[in-house]
Amino acid sequence: MSDIQHSDPDCIFCKLVSGKIPAKKVYEDEEIFAFHDINPWAPVHFLLIPKLHIPSMAQVGPEHAGLLGRMMALAPRLAQQEGCRPYPQGGFRLVCNTGGDGGQEVHHLHIHVIGGPRPWLKG
Ligand code: AMP
Ligand code: ZN
Repeated sequence: MSDIQHSDPDCIFCKLVSGKIPAKKVYEDEEIFAFHDINPWAPVHFLLIPKLHIPSMAQVGPEHAGLLGRMMALAPRLAQQEGCRPYPQGGFRLVCNTGGDGGQEVHHLHIHVIGGPRPWLKG
């Protein structure tokens, strides 16, 4: 059994999942939630998160492999749906900042999906 708590009442992304804070939703199923980044730095910029409160990639173990795999497998479909142009001229970037040195600001695991025509504000 994982000792990760399902939801953290102080976590902003848990509040987005539960609807306590409004989100511009991109996708939702029983275990995954996706929403537009509030401060986008490219024409397409949304975040893919597990509903389970996993603080970061640093807490991920073998028991999360299926969930993480399903998130990664969902990314291309949602990227196309949200306006990323087709590979290879188009495409997208997946970013998963982890910990202080990784530049992580919100401590609920999230994958940035970033794309659309350049220039971008960052990256
Ligand atoms: P990171 O630096 O990887 O932890 O990124 C956290 C991201 O969450 C940033 O790009 C923020 O703009 C985004 N963010 C923070 N609060 C919200 C919110 N309420 N709704 C949508 N995106 C948010
Ligand atoms: Zn959380």
